[in-house]
Amino acid sequence: MQPNNPEARKCIRILKFSSDKKHLYTLFRECRYPKQFLLINDFVKLLVVNKLNKVHQETSIKKFRPYQWTILTLFCLPASFLYESLLTFRNWFFWNFFSDPKKHDERVKMVQKQVIDWNKSGSAKPMCTARSERMNMSPRVASFKKDCHRISINLRDILEVDTQKQTVRVEPLVTMGQITQHLVPMGWALAVMVEMEDLTAGGLVMGVGMATNSHRCGLIQDTVIAYEVILSDGTLVRATAEENKDLFYALPWSHGTLGFLVAIELKIIPVKPYIHLTYIPCYSLDEMCKLTESLAIADDGPKFLEVTIFSKEKSVVMVGEFADVKTKEQKAKINHCNYWFKPWFYKHAESFLKRGKNDEYIPLRHYYHRHTRSIFWELESLVPFGNHPAYRWFLGWLGAPKISFIKLASTPGMRRSTAEMHVIQDIILPIGALKESVLISHELFEVYPLLIYPIRIYDYGKYQGFLRKPENLLPDRNYGMFHDMGVYGIPRAIKKKQVWKAKEAMRKAEKYVRDVKGYQCLYADIFSTREEFEKMFDHTLYKQMRRKYKAEKAFPEVYDKVRPDGKGPQLE
Ligand SMILES: Cc1cc2nc3c(=O)[nH]c(=O)nc-3n(C[C@H](O)[C@H](O)[C@H](O)COP(=O)(O)OP(=O)(O)OC[C@H]3O[C@@H](n4cnc5c(N)ncnc54)[C@H](O)[C@@H]3O)c2cc1C
Repeated sequence: MQPNNPEARKCIRILKFSSDKKHLYTLFRECRYPKQFLLINDFVKLLVVNKLNKVHQETSIKKFRPYQWTILTLFCLPASFLYESLLTFRNWFFWNFFSDPKKHDERVKMVQKQVIDWNKSGSAKPMCTARSERMNMSPRVASFKKDCHRISINLRDILEVDTQKQTVRVEPLVTMGQITQHLVPMGWALAVMVEMEDLTAGGLVMGVGMATNSHRCGLIQDTVIAYEVILSDGTLVRATAEENKDLFYALPWSHGTLGFLVAIELKIIPVKPYIHLTYIPCYSLDEMCKLTESLAIADDGPKFLEVTIFSKEKSVVMVGEFADVKTKEQKAKINHCNYWFKPWFYKHAESFLKRGKNDEYIPLRHYYHRHTRSIFWELESLVPFGNHPAYRWFLGWLGAPKISFIKLASTPGMRRSTAEMHVIQDIILPIGALKESVLISHELFEVYPLLIYPIRIYDYGKYQGFLRKPENLLPDRNYGMFHDMGVYGIPRAIKKKQVWKAKEAMRKAEKYVRDVKGYQCLYADIFSTREEFEKMFDHTLYKQMRRKYKAEKAFPEVYDKVRPDGKGPQLE
């Protein structure tokens, strides 16, 4: 007998069809439960019932996507805030009570023991760090770790600041936020102070790290004084420009495939409390390219240089210098751009296209982490109204959602679908190709804003490492000028609900990068074949070091770590 109440009848149908999950889902929606309940239901289904058939999964993802901001706001933001608060307290506590270098030595011995045990066990599986893929910043759905023996390297402390030698010695999991929190009040910063707060020193020197002064200082790897590494047999070695020189130059970009990093000594520089930043709007691509190139290579060029491109014609070039703020006029121009109620930094920069050339004084830590709050311009696609004044005033103080929590709140299916509809790439190209690269990005992706950081790539002679000797060396210099182009966002074709083939577009972009002798940053999705990859990156020294330090069986190759592997976003 059927009950009279139509809602109750629907619930009975739900029970009856509960074996058919797709049907169950439709019926749940029919029941007109409050929208938020349905949303949480969608979310739980996506996470827990992830192994449903693909059709169902994709339907769910499409339906869920417009509401993703709710999960981000209700779950990721508070969780990130709590995590950040606990981490700040933990770091303060450890620095004050446990930063004894002897304790570091004990922790390193524990890592060595794991490597020695791996050797004794005769394991066929190569080793990798035990850090979960969810904890790093990379959007890649990496799965190579499943086939590896995981070594726990829980080293996350600042060990020593030596202002005489101008160095800081840190453990690999120390984050950029932790470093500025510690060094800036002392009047110091990393020579290349990478901006996103959650990036780790170890990940940056083993992968890639850059900043707005990279046109003067190079990549973060160019500011490393020493690497302390555990090799495949468990021995601890120190590599510097004099000691174990070949290993020293082979480690950058090696992604942990030559050994495990347990400490790094990095160059630090004295700083002033503010950055005097000048915003220069440009209204044509030629104007921007000419200005950027001349500022990047000039001997008396600015210390900090960055360009945000808002369309094929419009961009804002930002130049900065360290500064003190003394006069009344200077004080009137102070902008604490990272306060929670302030507009996102790139939106603020965009406003100068209308306001014209202008300048302001930004407190140093605010400047260094100006892109953290909006994850460059990525947060807009997740929380479309995140820059609305009401949102900023009421929720802005919670900070940015941590990438790791965003990953936690998404399934591999959702990440795959993101990879099909979204570009996250950093590409390093010769500065002479700036105009062409913007036009090619426009043709393939039409994603704006674009980020441009000019970068020195050094010629290290026979110790060149993974990056080839630059062919565009500047006269009487041992470096060539390049630029990083950051392409983050949803291609215009997708926004207009047209067809956009991610793999095809990326393969064309990668071919262009190889043709102009550029490099693709390896935190992002790579679509090259092994041969193409070896054409982009010089494997000579790397392969010698793999043989010399018996890394071939002990660690996977870089390509095998970064390529899509069938379980990742192998897009057709
Ligand atoms: C949202 C986002 C924002 C970004 N912002 C910036 C930016 O502002 N500036 C910039 O320069 N780059 C930026 N990047 C790219 C970033 O530089 C790379 O992802 C970089 O490699 C560091 O990432 P990570 O700290 O998450 O390290 P991971 O991804 O964890 O590490 C990178 C590699 O190093 C290896 N590794 C790490 N620690 C060790 C160790 N102890 N021993 C051996 N191997 C190790 C890992 O196995 C991995 O292969 C960004 C990336 C994303 C996704």
